[in-house]
Amino acid sequence: MAILYSSTRGGESGVTASQAILKGLACDGGLFVPNEIPVIQGNLADWKDYSYQQVAYEIMKLYFSDFTQEELMNCINNAYDEKFDTTEIVPMVEADGVYYLELFHGATIAFKDMALSILPHLMTTSAKKNNIKNDIVILTATSGDTGKAALAGFAKVEGTKIIVFYPKNGVSPIQEKQMVTQEGDNTHVVGIHGNFDDAQTGVKNIFNDKELAAYLEEKGYQFSSANSINIGRLVPQIVYYVYAYLNLMKEERISLGDKINVVVPTGNFGNILAAYYAKNMGVPIEQLICASNDNKVLYDFFETGCYDKNREFMLTSSPSMDILISSNLERLIYRICGNDPVKNREFMESLKNTGVYSITEDMKKQLEEYSGGFASEKETAKKIKALYEKTGYVIDTHTAVAAVVYDKYLEKTGDKTPTVIASTASPFKFGRSVLNAIDSKYDSLDDMEQIEELSKVANVAIPNAIEEIKNAPIRHNFVCAKEEMVEEVKRFLQI
Ligand SMILES: *Cc1c(COP(=O)(O)O)cnc(C)c1O
Repeated sequence: MAILYSSTRGGESGVTASQAILKGLACDGGLFVPNEIPVIQGNLADWKDYSYQQVAYEIMKLYFSDFTQEELMNCINNAYDEKFDTTEIVPMVEADGVYYLELFHGATIAFKDMALSILPHLMTTSAKKNNIKNDIVILTATSGDTGKAALAGFAKVEGTKIIVFYPKNGVSPIQEKQMVTQEGDNTHVVGIHGNFDDAQTGVKNIFNDKELAAYLEEKGYQFSSANSINIGRLVPQIVYYVYAYLNLMKEERISLGDKINVVVPTGNFGNILAAYYAKNMGVPIEQLICASNDNKVLYDFFETGCYDKNREFMLTSSPSMDILISSNLERLIYRICGNDPVKNREFMESLKNTGVYSITEDMKKQLEEYSGGFASEKETAKKIKALYEKTGYVIDTHTAVAAVVYDKYLEKTGDKTPTVIASTASPFKFGRSVLNAIDSKYDSLDDMEQIEELSKVANVAIPNAIEEIKNAPIRHNFVCAKEEMVEEVKRFLQI
């Protein structure tokens, strides 16, 4: 059965998967959603011994129904290969009674690799299928991890260029170093004076600029997005939730049909939305526990039904979650208002104009499968230390936010359902915060000394992604005001 996509704001419908991937964002500013969420046919137990790649194929073929088997298999095999440092792709570690699903074994040691190692392949395949002759210009706003993962994925990919905007003072030193040392003539990295929301709004405005799009077309270019608003990123993220369930069955931690809970450290709402899709496809997920840091706009939303971004933006030790406008939430809002683009557009317009919207009681009822929680900086650090001291296992700051929220959930509900925590980054990516949490004596060490130390403390080899940047020269040294993003794009494209 062919799955077609339409915009959450009603301006486009009947769009094929490959067209939706190419466009990224719909032309009315909405997000592409499948007309229905496909359900897994047959028995999950039959997939128990499947490799990650096989599960990926089974899931993706349901969404990307205009890709041939060969096209899709090629994309999958080119993505989930030796770039990952383990053949399991997403290993699961049990510590202190919960399962940490390690999503950080790809090229840039954050979970963004799960989708961004395949997106370039999906995109170039989509371009071919649709006879696109233009070069695709990927525009990306990043809170730190998407940027590098997208750069790594698109670098030197024929027929593409990639421009990444990041908040100049809003990412970790390692994240910044990873980005500004990126190789490939088709890559461009720019720091902006502003926060992540400014970067994301700037990029969205560029996408919605029809005149600019026409001008680009004239010059042989067209924009697309590597942000999680692209359906080509969301779908690959569903795979690991299915895989995690299969893995728990295989290890005999659960039996077919048993419920599990998932806890997801959340920013733009992409990762947890993928878990929600997995649930709707038939994976027995009970609660979707949405974990926030001090920027707890989503926690407040799940508590009250009111989304209110009018608040102070906090810089935290989990920068990839420092977000007040969670773009992917729009896909959930659309669904719970009955797939009604008119209603959804009203909420989004209210968000744009006043920074606030409130959902109806009827919509709120449909959110009972979600729980929200948040962790303060202090609680996050305390958790890293406590878990380390109890088990020897070291988690990064984002994962620790989720672990704190899970502890709070457990205390409040007593719900003993087996639980998977999405472990979204390697502790090496946020080494300073992680080590400081364990002991302040490490604070005087420089970044690289800390990496060495962390390797000893965690008893884990230094990942390749870190070794790589140790002596890498800086290749991007650009900063601009948030109002200058269009100029920066034109300058790089020389148009
Ligand atoms: C991007 C990111 C998140 C947030 O994921 P969303 O899909 O934006 O909610 C959490 N942790 C890390 C390490 C990330 O890179």
